[in-house]
Amino acid sequence: MSLVVMKFGGTSVEDATAIARTAGIVAGRVAQGKKPVVVVSAMSKVTDQLLACAAAASRGDRTGALAISQRLRCRYRDTAAALLKDHKRLAALQTSIEHEFDALDEVLRGLAVILELTPRISDLIVSYGERLSSYMIAQAFDEMGMHGVHVDAREVIITDSQYQKAIPLDDLIEERCALHIKPHLDAGSVPVMGGFIGSNEAGITTTLGRGGSDFTGALIGGALHAEAIEIWTDVNGIMTTDPRICPDALRVRVVSFEEAAELAYFGAKVLHPATILPAVRRNIPVLVLNSRNPTNEGTRIISLAPHCKSPFKCIAVKKKLTIIDVVASRMLMTHGYLKAIFDIFDKHQCPVDMVSTSEVSVSLTVDSNDKLPAIAADLGKLADVKYEGQKALVCMVGEDIRGQMGISAQVFTAIKHINVRMISQGASEINMSFMIEESDVEEAVKSLHAHFFRDPDPEIFDVEARAATV
Ligand code: ASP
Ligand code: MG
Repeated sequence: MSLVVMKFGGTSVEDATAIARTAGIVAGRVAQGKKPVVVVSAMSKVTDQLLACAAAASRGDRTGALAISQRLRCRYRDTAAALLKDHKRLAALQTSIEHEFDALDEVLRGLAVILELTPRISDLIVSYGERLSSYMIAQAFDEMGMHGVHVDAREVIITDSQYQKAIPLDDLIEERCALHIKPHLDAGSVPVMGGFIGSNEAGITTTLGRGGSDFTGALIGGALHAEAIEIWTDVNGIMTTDPRICPDALRVRVVSFEEAAELAYFGAKVLHPATILPAVRRNIPVLVLNSRNPTNEGTRIISLAPHCKSPFKCIAVKKKLTIIDVVASRMLMTHGYLKAIFDIFDKHQCPVDMVSTSEVSVSLTVDSNDKLPAIAADLGKLADVKYEGQKALVCMVGEDIRGQMGISAQVFTAIKHINVRMISQGASEINMSFMIEESDVEEAVKSLHAHFFRDPDPEIFDVEARAATV
């Protein structure tokens, strides 16, 4: 049985038109003899709005919270009405939409009295986004003759009880897939479920963390031994760099799991990094595809990518970073110095991206955030501290830098006119990263792209599309 998991993000289900397009893509797979399991996100921006509702209610702003929920209710009503033709089916769907929003409003009213938003209640509130989108889309698929059946993700994605970032329990998920998904596939139906949400063993709603629908897709794919996991989004796959900076950026046809994981961490917003893991473990290819351009081949992520003539596949950038320089005075030559520094970041729960050390100083980079003055004050008890924002991290990724000589010389020659503040190489064999001023990003990326992607390997990069655009 050629089973594929097809995950559609928020923009692929943002309104009736997008949902109809998505249905067409799924129907295309069915016509190819595939058995799809469909995982959908909430309609675009709904998760943010539900979080805003929750925040308003917990501040005691009951009216504000209910007003946001009312706007969402109308959006669902309108989408349902535009989507379904069959009166009886539409009436039943409208009834369940009203029912779900009534239940949500009850929670919001309660929260506006209690004034305490716990992670558990937050998960319950955001879960409505995926619950409603998946239910509505299953109805639409069914009306379009695809035998859509709704599966409540909370009966399948069983997790521990760490609300807002729950860890999935693989064995239970496999059992639940056999119980709640497999029979539908055997009966020729198309199961449709929400991403991102799950429940603990006691049946209390949990979520996998923001952007977690990709993760759901990979978990289901892994549990059902799918032949592929398709992540449908609104870009043509992974690009060599941001096309807004380099209009001649190329689609990368194929990357390795390792490369994709590096890129995910460095803010190439195509995939949730954890998505990769359940797929890697089972060696299931992940495809990143564009629902607005479904005939495009996208990017294929596989365990062993073929050899590529150019050392790099992608240049990723992460902006809004701050560099913190810690210059030792008193604690020079003592051990435990780095530990003392990191303990401070731990105390403030502030993740560190990059570190570079010399005998007397340590430079670290973090996402710019409002805790920085407090962190700097604590660090100031150990050493002299300076911090400076508006920095950017440029990250160059490629398996084929392994063992090649002179790559760093090429990189830094290409950007010799730009001031580089920090460099990291070797932390991962396939990634070279450095920090520059945010204002130098465009120039640096353009120069590097021009140097490394002048003569791209047609096996790895879509050179025809470039020829068509340039
Ligand atoms: N709807 C959730 C979010 O916006 C999960 C997802 O779309 O992946 O974070
Ligand atoms: Mg996403």
